[in-house]
Amino acid sequence: MIRALILLLAAASAPAQQVALTFDDLPAHGALPPGATRVSIAKDIIQALQAAKAPPAWGFLNAQKLDKDPALADVLKVWTDAGFPLGSHTYSHPDLTATSLQDFQQDIAANEPALRSLMGGKNWHWFRYPFLHEGDTLEKRHAVIAYLKQNGYRIAQTTIDFEDYAWNAPYARCLARNDQPAIDWLKSSYISTAAEYIELGQKMARLVYGRDIRHVMLLHLGGFQTVMLPKLIDLLRERGFTLITLEEAHKDPAYQSDPDAAAKNTGTLLEQWMDARRIEYPPHARKPFARLEALCR
Ligand SMILES: [Zn+2]
Repeated sequence: MIRALILLLAAASAPAQQVALTFDDLPAHGALPPGATRVSIAKDIIQALQAAKAPPAWGFLNAQKLDKDPALADVLKVWTDAGFPLGSHTYSHPDLTATSLQDFQQDIAANEPALRSLMGGKNWHWFRYPFLHEGDTLEKRHAVIAYLKQNGYRIAQTTIDFEDYAWNAPYARCLARNDQPAIDWLKSSYISTAAEYIELGQKMARLVYGRDIRHVMLLHLGGFQTVMLPKLIDLLRERGFTLITLEEAHKDPAYQSDPDAAAKNTGTLLEQWMDARRIEYPPHARKPFARLEALCR
């Protein structure tokens, strides 16, 4: 009885954690695993979110994929029919570090006709930087921010990114070979890496802002996410998170802060602040890129 009461009090006093899940690279991301289609991937992800009673998640569009393969419009119809919104991830996914300001702005504008038509009268003015690269010079960074503001966009920041995309190609290879031990490792390493970077995001928020913040997690609309999303949501729940919308997350004043620093390889909002303020990163495991790259070759 006393023990139960102590546990209850501990749960009640634990800071509430909130996170918005967001999906990049619609309508098609990464290698297609055998048996899957682009539409089945979108349907499975939507189903996993709805089963978990998650609020509608933003998907970030690269309309060039649609111009190359018009059948991909079906993916976006599935997404918007479920009541999930679409925002901009630029037309062709250029890296701002390697792109002129003018070309980058044109690429943002080129994405707009598709968003306008897919979203009807609804708001699509949220922008996710490709590769999270926000500018290798301060001039570029400031000019893109000003351009986005002038054109009515809000920047869809992220605070938790474990680079989930890196599991998609090995998963497609390992599934094609039916290599079950390798697939088991992909599943366990996906979850352990997610757990590591969720915790790192929480620690960085406390270092940067001195408190817990509402988080935004970056995910991709890929084949392995259909397998792992229910498990990832379970993990978030175990860690005390509730799922919120991107709009709710950005009501946290943390998202009004701007690290205002240029770099070739900027990351999440928290990583940008850590780098700008030269705060030492808490110890954390590295993402297993080398093993993922070599697996099932
Ligand atoms: Zn992307």
